Parts: sequence; C-alpha cells; structure tokens
Amino acid sequence: MFLYLHFQYFPVVPIMNLLVRDAIIVTQDDNRSIVEGNLFVEDGIITHVGKSTDTSDFVVEAKGGVVVPGLINTHTHVAMTGFRGLLDDLNLEPFLEKTFKLDSGRTDEDIRQASLMSLREMISGGTTSFADLYYSENVIAEACRDIGIRGFLAWVTLDKEITTQEGDPVSNAEHFVKSWRGKESLVTPMVGMQGVYACSEDTVLSAKEVASRLETGLHMHLCETRHEVYGHVGKTGKRPVEWLDHIGLLDGSVPLLAAHGAWLTKSEMRTLKNADVRVSSCARSNMKIGSGIPPVKELIDEGVTVSLGTDSATTSNNLDMLEEIRTASLLQKVSKWDASVLPAATALDMATRNAAASLGAAGEIGSIEKGKKADFVVLDSSSLRMAPLTRQNAVNQIVYSAQASDVTHTIINGKPVYADRKFTHY
Ligand SMILES: [Zn+2]
Repeated sequence: MFLYLHFQYFPVVPIMNLLVRDAIIVTQDDNRSIVEGNLFVEDGIITHVGKSTDTSDFVVEAKGGVVVPGLINTHTHVAMTGFRGLLDDLNLEPFLEKTFKLDSGRTDEDIRQASLMSLREMISGGTTSFADLYYSENVIAEACRDIGIRGFLAWVTLDKEITTQEGDPVSNAEHFVKSWRGKESLVTPMVGMQGVYACSEDTVLSAKEVASRLETGLHMHLCETRHEVYGHVGKTGKRPVEWLDHIGLLDGSVPLLAAHGAWLTKSEMRTLKNADVRVSSCARSNMKIGSGIPPVKELIDEGVTVSLGTDSATTSNNLDMLEEIRTASLLQKVSKWDASVLPAATALDMATRNAAASLGAAGEIGSIEKGKKADFVVLDSSSLRMAPLTRQNAVNQIVYSAQASDVTHTIINGKPVYADRKFTHY
C-alpha cells in the first residue's frame, strides 16, 4: 500500500500562439547559436527566433532569462517513483529482487498515480521528453497525454518464466505498440528489454522482430554492472555486447537505445558504434548503486551518440535532469583528473540534441529552430545562483549552477504546461 500525493490535473487544450520576450535563447542549433531576443510559436511549431515585436495569445516575459531546449531524459522508469525511499543502499541484484516483489502487487491506479508524480516532477525541472522502460506503458501513455509531456515509451520484455506481467511480455509489447502508434502525437511506443540477465536469445530476437515489423525502436539496460557482465560471460562465454552481436541483435536494422553502458571494453564500444547503438548514461544511478564510472569520454571519442538519463527515482533519487547534467560532467572530470573532460557545451548537447538523435527525433526536437516542435524551458532571470547571467556564460550557468527550482516555464508542443512555476490547464 502506497500513499500518493493526489494532484488535480486538467486535459491540455490548445492555444494558437505563444511569444517569449526578451530572452537569452540557447538554441542548440548546428552552430550552437545564442540569440538575444524573442521566440514565437504558432500551432506548436517554432516560427521565429530573434528580434520581433509580435504579440500573442500567451506572452512569457523572460526579462533577460535563459531559454533552453526542453531537456530530454533518455532513461527512466516513471512508475517506480512510487517506491522512492524504499530501495536505497542496495546493490543491483538485491535491488531488482525487491523491485520485482513490489511490482507484483501493483494495480494500474498505483502505476498511474506514481507516473503522474514523476511527470510533474520532470516538467517542473525542465524536462519535456523522456524515454521509459516498464510494463503497463498504456497507463503511462495515458498519463503523458493527460498531462502534456512527450513520452518515448518502451514496454519491457523479459523471459516468460520470470516476469510479473500477465501473459507473454513480447505479445504485450506488440499489442502496446500497435495500440499507440500514430494515435497521440506526444506518445511514441517502443519495444523494451530488461537486459541480458533476464532475456534469453529467443526473447531478444522476438523483441527485435516485433520492433522491426512495427518500425519502432528498442530500449534496454546494457552493461550496467560488473556482475551483469561476468555473470553473462559465465553463462555464455561472451560479454553482453559480444553476445548480442553474435545472436544478431546488433546488425543495425533496428534502432537501439542502451541504458548505462558502464562496463564496456574498447572493442565493445566499436561494436556499438558500428551498429549505431545509442547509449543513455546514468551517472547518479551508477554512483548510488555502486555500479562503477561509465566510460562516457571513451564512448564519445569512439563516436557513439551518448545522452543522459536519470534512471528511476529509486536509484537517483529524483528525476532532475539539471542535476544529472552537472553530475555527468563532474564524474568524468574527477575520474580522469582533468577539468577539461566533458565540458559544459558537450554536457548540454547530451541532454538536448544528442538525446533527440538517440530517440530518432532530431528533426523535431532537441534544439530551438524555426520549423521544430516548440519544446523549451525558461529559466529565471533573477536566479541568485545563476548570476551574473550573460549571453557569454549562459551555457556554463545552465550546466554548473542552475537548479530545477530556477525553471519558471516549461513549454511542450507549444503549450505552457508549466507557467510561473505553476501547472496550467492550457
Ligand atoms: Zn533503468
């Protein structure tokens, strides 16, 4: 039995256009342009970045504050926020054992309420899109639609013998993707896999077949802990990436987003690069579970697209992407004894444009440019912790100083879902 905060929420109704006035706009376009001026949105699409005197249905006075593309969390489990504070100080194996036990007694309403808590937490901290890996993604999809956040939702598959899902997880995933594809612009249904420790060759290839046939992507945990890697070597004689390559998952035919990648050899990194596998690195989760330091610098050097994920609120213990960006950068610096590693601009790329590319959505989100979907965040110009704030230092202030409480507005699909630090019913 869990106690939830019961939020009142409203269906999001469209407004025609929206203007942000007098902002430092960190566009994250190909040139990383930073523009001082206004931002205009019509029917959910960015139509103008720069000087403009237009007026609008809805005006945000930024007063010199920073506007940044909406942050994209590429690995989480929003329904697990219901377990926040119940699974701390555990290594991954006892953590998963306890999680599966808690999972088995959940109702759809438990999942809905926990997910709504997470979605609100993310929106209030500047996150506009997220990738989720769990079961009952249909319930989470409805929550995304109702609250107005963009979800890339992967229904997790694992071997039938060990699942707590009713029925066959692969069939459940297939049914979910078929029911939600093309149905709601905020929801992209995908196929998930728990990881090599819970997915046999048959499960992996069946999940791949469904994703391939339904033309969607795969999302899975991969090489999170030393235990996972050496357990798999003991079972199959191969490390997880070598094994996945051997059985035919990594032929590049289906887009794969792999979470963690904390235990990888150089050779495995090259295999991931060649198969265009994208990695979602989860620094705070890896630190809290004691998994190890993810080789983010090496992955980037190898040419792999790396983005950032908070993982669930049971491991990181919040869904705060600004904190995740900062920690990802600091962890790389201290592990290499080199302050120049993972600089602010790279860290911000990982949470915006790289993340969009990781989800196959680079043409739509991840930067503030004419023609793209209007997903962006306004940070408070009067934030004491970001002062002094100028066009020149804006990226560094976002990465190293800003906190979730500095977010004043979160715009998703052109709608001010969060305005003046309050949830709206637009
Ligand atoms: Zn995870």
